[in-house]
Amino acid sequence: MERPIVEQRAVLATEDSFVSVACRSRKFLEGVPNAFTILRTPFDRWYAKKAEEAGAELYAGVTVRGVVKDGERIVGVKTSEGDELSASVVLACDGVNSMLAQKAGLRPELKPSEVALGAKEVLELPAEKIEDRFALEKGEGAVMELLGSTSLGMLGYAFLYTNKDSLALGVGCKLSDYQKKGLRPSEHLEALKKHPAVRKLIEGSKTVEYSSHLIPEGGLHSMPPLARDGFLVAGDAAQMVNAAFREGSNLAMTAGRLAGETVAEAKAKNDFSRAALSTYEEKLRACYLMPDLEEVQDLEAAIEAVPDFLEFYPRLACDLARLRFTVDGQPKREHMKAAWAMLRERGLLRMARELWPLRKAL
Ligand SMILES: Cc1cc2nc3c(=O)[nH]c(=O)nc-3n(C[C@H](O)[C@H](O)[C@H](O)COP(=O)(O)OP(=O)(O)OC[C@H]3O[C@@H](n4cnc5c(N)ncnc54)[C@H](O)[C@@H]3O)c2cc1C
Repeated sequence: MERPIVEQRAVLATEDSFVSVACRSRKFLEGVPNAFTILRTPFDRWYAKKAEEAGAELYAGVTVRGVVKDGERIVGVKTSEGDELSASVVLACDGVNSMLAQKAGLRPELKPSEVALGAKEVLELPAEKIEDRFALEKGEGAVMELLGSTSLGMLGYAFLYTNKDSLALGVGCKLSDYQKKGLRPSEHLEALKKHPAVRKLIEGSKTVEYSSHLIPEGGLHSMPPLARDGFLVAGDAAQMVNAAFREGSNLAMTAGRLAGETVAEAKAKNDFSRAALSTYEEKLRACYLMPDLEEVQDLEAAIEAVPDFLEFYPRLACDLARLRFTVDGQPKREHMKAAWAMLRERGLLRMARELWPLRKAL
């Protein structure tokens, strides 16, 4: 764990202004922290060790090349070493590109419109500077997400997370939008670094890592069937990402646990058929995972249906907020009139229609 998160900040940005809403609460830190930042390399090592302590065998550096079938049933995997490992059930947790789910015939290759391209830099900065800049107590953390002009007209968002002695600054936009715009994510990140909501927070930091990775964002519409005889899919491999809430890791961990429990039950009955394994889907529906994905499944389409959504609404929020705080010798009534004029220009009914789907993300 890098830092437990005491503050979550949402920023609506235009090119030169921004409005932010921050929620800071010590309740987030009570018991097991509500959220915390991690760096994947040390976290994954720690997490793998936990699995080994619980009895798992880890084959690091071995790539799975395909599945082994017995008739319609999947009974194992082929490795890069040319070995075949047999299994009662193969659980595909091989991430967004999931070659295993494809080889099992459960899904085709993803389209650029079904994935976001996330790019991230780790920026080294002393812990005390991070705590000063984000007004944090020692060891505590904050995260910030940015919506609006920071996605440069594409569908997506930007984020800034605090680690122990580094910041993670990133962007995530639809791959098809990057293609259309002909923009590299590294160029996008450079533009983000100059934004007034970000510039002073990262000043003097040193880039020590750059990485980019696909994020499955097709949601329920792109979710493959989750089981077949001798086979289950979980995590990014099954499109289990709730982009509206920036959640993916927790969904992957929950699905992995529920798949493991399903396999244990199947083993007790010695039945590895699709029918026996389908209790996995029931378990996913009975917890937060499927209900949450159902709630947000049409959100992206609703936002895309309003081409200037991520440009117009952050600008409106900034203009209205600026009016609220303007002191210019005019009666406040004049500011109020100007505010109403801005709202009427777009149309109140139209705005209600455009904003209504957003309630699911709030
Ligand atoms: C820039 C970025 C920011 C993100 N921010 C957040 C966030 O703030 N909060 C959050 O909850 N989620 C976030 N996510 C999403 C989160 O990282 C994923 O949802 C999560 O890691 C999914 O876990 P997984 O185990 O399914 O897949 P992965 O973490 O991708 O793990 C898959 C593993 O399988 C291995 N693998 C793949 N193919 C093979 C093969 N053939 N043989 C052997 N091994 C194989 C890979 O090497 C990898 O180790 C973010 C993602 C990105 C890219």
